[in-house]
Amino acid sequence: MKTLLKNAKILVIDKNISVINGSIVIENNRITHLGKAIPKFRFDKIINCKQNLLMPGFKNTHAHTPMTFLRGYATSGQLQEWLFETVFPAEDILIEQSEDIEILTKLGILEYLKSGITLAFDMYYAPKYIAKAAKELGFRSVILGTIQGERQSPEEVKADFDEFNNYDSLVSYKLGFHAEYTCGPDILVPLSKVVNELKTPVFTHLSETEHETNDCLKREGKRPPKHLIDLGLFNYGGGGFHCVTFNDEDMALFKKHQLSMITCPGSNSKLASGTPNLRKALDLGINVSLGTDGPASNDALDFFYEMRLLSVVQNLRAKTPNTLSHEEILRIATINGARTLNMNDLSDLSVGKIADIIMIDLHAPNMLPLNNIPYQIVYAASKDNILMTMIDGKILYYKNRFNVGENVNHIYKKAQQITDKIKKKLKKN
Ligand SMILES: [Zn+2]
Repeated sequence: MKTLLKNAKILVIDKNISVINGSIVIENNRITHLGKAIPKFRFDKIINCKQNLLMPGFKNTHAHTPMTFLRGYATSGQLQEWLFETVFPAEDILIEQSEDIEILTKLGILEYLKSGITLAFDMYYAPKYIAKAAKELGFRSVILGTIQGERQSPEEVKADFDEFNNYDSLVSYKLGFHAEYTCGPDILVPLSKVVNELKTPVFTHLSETEHETNDCLKREGKRPPKHLIDLGLFNYGGGGFHCVTFNDEDMALFKKHQLSMITCPGSNSKLASGTPNLRKALDLGINVSLGTDGPASNDALDFFYEMRLLSVVQNLRAKTPNTLSHEEILRIATINGARTLNMNDLSDLSVGKIADIIMIDLHAPNMLPLNNIPYQIVYAASKDNILMTMIDGKILYYKNRFNVGENVNHIYKKAQQITDKIKKKLKKN
């Protein structure tokens, strides 16, 4: 299969970020040519991009995609109250009928495709339904283990690690646990054994609130990052979701162990958890990437909205405009995400890389006139400007139409039915 995307503007992420005019050739799932000259091939598909912008797809490095059923439902409370009183009881009902996770994931994937997200690092239970949803729709999913109390165990995630790293080329699996405040030593010590046996990275919710950090200090006599590092959980890398309360000591540890900070400004703002000092993290050379978190704490799966929030909350925190530059924000949303997951062959648009590509409409009123395209992607664009989403060389969304091999109206209808069923059961309890 040879695809030509011609007559485009192309966002090149190198030492600097620039925009060039040219074409991209994709053979099967990889970029084989990029530039002005077009090789004389017989192409299977030719798309005239009409001077719209091609750029790497956004990497959503923290998600709980099946939580689409809680969009607009979990609307109040700070983290502890929101989680234990609203989210967990609803999830208990969903997990009893875990096959419903497939449809709820598919709904989230459709939202990703419409907003230019080409990968989700998806922390949730019942990985077989997430894997099935991703494979069937052609979406790239990195599933993360979610040990928490009775829900999954170190033995289970070890078995899932083997199963889902050999499932489909679009699906992979990493070790993870919900959080240090929901996993005691009975879980973390055996998990550390698995990590050190498999020599693999670990990811978890980390230092999300002051409450969590103070609790850990009281219980363990140390801050959460030190607690997990001392248990040997980060011996082979990985990272933390949120990292809101990180101080200098936490950041120095993350730098030393080459761990990634995954920031979720939408979720942290909604739950009033706070804002990490990302200026300091980036200056220290820590890898920072971006996540939407789940639809229960956001409630949108939209990287344009997330990039804009990332910028403004950092400015407000530092009381300084451009605390993060638009170039840093574009890196955080794309190549840094690939770095978090050690998947550098899908990081950017260059020859040899996997073709996870999006096209942004530059001929829309909110994008014109063109003064500084990379800046305007962060500050002016919206998901309505997404013209095309390509994953693994296949166009899954093009000009308002999904090409996922399924009737999307059926997915919408089923997701509503599942949500109504769960709400009914919740009322009864
Ligand atoms: Zn989360």
